[in-house]
Amino acid sequence: MDHENRIEPASLLDTFSDAVILLDQTANILFANEHAAAFVGTHMRELRGYPLWQAVPQLVTATFYQAVINTIRTRISTQVKYYAPITQTWLHMYLTPTSEGTALFFHEETEPPPLQNTFQQGAEGHIDLLETISERVALLSPEGLLLEITQQPLTDAHVLREEVIGKPFIYFPSWSSMPVVQEQLSAAIARASKGDIARFEARTQPQPGHYLNLIVTLTPHRDVNQQVEYLISTTHDITVHKQAEEDLHGLVEEVPQFIFTARPDGAITFSNQRWLDYLGMSAEQAYGFKWRERIHPDDRQRSEEEREAAIAAGRPYEVEYRLKNGASGNYRWFLARAIPKKNAQGTILSWSATITDIDEQKRIEQAFHHSQERVQALMASNILGIFIAEEGEILEANETFLYMTGYSQEDLRQRRLNWLHMTAPEYITRTHHAHQQLTLHQYLPAYEKEYIGKDGSRLPVLVGGIMTQSEPMQTICFVLDNAARKELEQRKDTFLSMASHELKTPLTSLKLQTQLLRKQLAKQDTRKMDIALSRMEGQLNTATRLVEELLDISKIRAGKLEYAQETVDLNNVLQEIVEVLQQTQPTHTIVMSVPTSPVILPGDRDRLGQVFLNLIGNAIKYSPHANSVEVDMTTSTESIMITVRDHGIGIPREQRDKIFERFYRVASQQYSIPGLGMGLSIVEEIVEHHGGTITVESEIGTGSTFVVTFPVSPSAVKSHYCL
Ligand code: ADP
Repeated sequence: MDHENRIEPASLLDTFSDAVILLDQTANILFANEHAAAFVGTHMRELRGYPLWQAVPQLVTATFYQAVINTIRTRISTQVKYYAPITQTWLHMYLTPTSEGTALFFHEETEPPPLQNTFQQGAEGHIDLLETISERVALLSPEGLLLEITQQPLTDAHVLREEVIGKPFIYFPSWSSMPVVQEQLSAAIARASKGDIARFEARTQPQPGHYLNLIVTLTPHRDVNQQVEYLISTTHDITVHKQAEEDLHGLVEEVPQFIFTARPDGAITFSNQRWLDYLGMSAEQAYGFKWRERIHPDDRQRSEEEREAAIAAGRPYEVEYRLKNGASGNYRWFLARAIPKKNAQGTILSWSATITDIDEQKRIEQAFHHSQERVQALMASNILGIFIAEEGEILEANETFLYMTGYSQEDLRQRRLNWLHMTAPEYITRTHHAHQQLTLHQYLPAYEKEYIGKDGSRLPVLVGGIMTQSEPMQTICFVLDNAARKELEQRKDTFLSMASHELKTPLTSLKLQTQLLRKQLAKQDTRKMDIALSRMEGQLNTATRLVEELLDISKIRAGKLEYAQETVDLNNVLQEIVEVLQQTQPTHTIVMSVPTSPVILPGDRDRLGQVFLNLIGNAIKYSPHANSVEVDMTTSTESIMITVRDHGIGIPREQRDKIFERFYRVASQQYSIPGLGMGLSIVEEIVEHHGGTITVESEIGTGSTFVVTFPVSPSAVKSHYCL
C-alpha cells in the first residue's frame, strides 16, 4: 500500500465518533484517531509507531491482549467487551483484520454487560478476582509484557498502573535496576511460556533502601488449543520469613549449644560455627562422619550403637559422650540429642541435633556418685552404727545399728524405730540436752547413753552426730557400742571397791595395834621407839586415807556414796581441820579469817571436813617454796564462800577444768609431787551434793585460789537433805 492510499482511511477514521487504532502485524500502532488519543489522554503523535501495549496501557487488560493477538494470528473479525480498570469504563472493542494488520474500534458502554459474560471472557474483570488470590498478581503475555497487575506491587514501587502496563515485566521498577532479578525473571518467563511452571526466589527493591524477599511463580495459562495464552505471575512475600530465618541463623550462632542438621544416615550437613571452633575443624573436615574421630575412644562404640539403633527405628535419640577440644586436646562431656524429621510416609528426611556441654553436671554427678559410694562404704561399716533420722524417727540405718539394737530392716521400713523412744528413761534428760547442742551448733558432741533394744535389753552406747537439715530436722548419728568399755569400767570399779575394802581391813587393824603398842611403850618411856611408831602411824594414816579415797571414788561411781544428814557449823569444821593440819604440816602457816559466829549448813560434817582437808592439803602440797596458805570464809544472806589461797606452782589454764576429773593430774607435777588425782573429784562431788559450786583461779608460778560457794537458802540444797 502506498502513501496516498493510507491518508484516505486515516482522515476518514478521524471522523469516527469512537476511538479507532490501526495496528501492523506486530501490534505496533500505525494510526490512532483523535478520539483514541483523547481517550488515553495524549496526542496522536505519541501513539503512532509505538507498540500497542506500551502506548495505550490504560486500555490493556488480558482480554484486550488476547483478543488483539488472536485477531492478528487468525485474521478473523471478533469483538469483546471488557472493563478497563484505569479509565474505569466498560469497553466494547471490535477487531477486524486489515491488509496491513488489524483495526481496533472502541465503543464506550454505559452499562456493564450481563454478569456471566464477564466470566465467559476468561481472565477479564479479574483485578478484584486476582486481588483475592494474592496481593501481588500480574498477568503477562507469553513474551513477558505486563497485561494486568494488582495494586500492591504498584503501591510497593510507587508507580501508576499506566506507567507499567504493556511494558516488559522485566522493567518493572521493583527490579528495573537489579540485573540478577531481571535475568531470573526472563528465564522464568521463557520457561513458563513453554508451558512449565517457573519459580524463583528474589530479593527485590521496590524503593531505594527498602527490600522485599519474594517467591515468584509464573504459571502458564493455556487456551483451548493448548497454546500458552498468558502467564500468571504470583508472588509471595517472604520478607518476614526471611528475616526470621536470618534471626534464627543468628540465634543458631548465639546459643551455647552445638547445632546441626544431618542426612538420614547421620552424615552432618550443617552446623553452627561454635561446634567447628570446638573441634578445631573446618566444615569440610568435620561434616559427614569425620568429626566422630573426636569422640572419646571409650564412648565411641556406645554412641555409635545408640545412633544406629535410633536411625533404624526412626526415633529420637540421646547419648552422652566425651568430645575432644581440638585446641587443648582435653575432653569434655556432652549430651547429644537428635530428632528425625520425617515425611508423611514416615521416611526420615533429615535429623536436627543439638549437643550440650554437660561437663560441669557430669563432674558434680561423679563427685556425688563418689561421695555416695563413700557414704555407702561408711554405712557398711561393721563397727559403727549409723542412722539417719528426721526429728525422732529413724529413716535409714545400717546393718550394724540394726544388729546392735536387734531391729530388722522390716521394722525400719515400717517406721518403728524412734531414737528417743529407744533411749533408756534415765538418759532422756541428757539426750535432750545433747540435742539442744545439736540445734545450736549443728553438731552433736559424743555422749554416753543407753538404748533399749527390741528385746528390752540395754545397750550402752556412745552417740555423736551432725545435723544435715533444720526444717524438719534431719540428723546423721553415729553410734558406737559402748558395752565392752562399760563392762571394763564396771570391772575396774568393782576391783577398786574390792581392793580398797581388802586393804582397809588390815590397815585398820594395824593402826589399832600400833596405837595399842604405843600406849604400852609410852609407859616404858622409850622416846625413840615412840618416834618410829609415830612415823609408822603417819604412814598408816596416809595409806588409810588413800584407801578411803579409793573407796569413795568407787562409791561415787556406783552412786552409793552415803551422806549423813545433820546441821553442820562450817566455822567449827574449818577451824578443827586447820588445827589438825597446822600440827601435821608445820612447814606452812595457815592464815585463817572466819566469821565470829557459827556458819550453819545442813549436810554431812565429815564429808565437808574432807573438802577443806583436801583443799588446804593441796595448797600446802603444791606450794613447796612458800610458807603460808590463806583460808577465808565469808557469808552473805545468800551464800557462804570459802577461799583457799596458796602461793605455789599454779595450774596451766587449759587444765583447770580437768583437775576435777578423777585420776587426772597436771602432767608436769605427776612425778615431783605425790598424789593419785582423786581428791578434787571427791571434793567436787561432795560440794555439788551440798548444792554448792567449786571454781579455781590460778597463775603459773604465783599460786592458785580455790573458791567453794554454798547457797544459804535451804531450797538450794539437794532435796534429800530436806527430807
Ligand atoms: P592429787 O592427789 O594429785 O593431788 P587432786 O585431785 O587433789 O589429786 O588434784 C588433782 C591435780 O590438780 C593435782 O595432781 C595437781 O596437778 C592439781 N592441783 C590441785 N590443787 C592444786 C594447787 N593448789 N596448786 C596446783 N595444782 C593443784
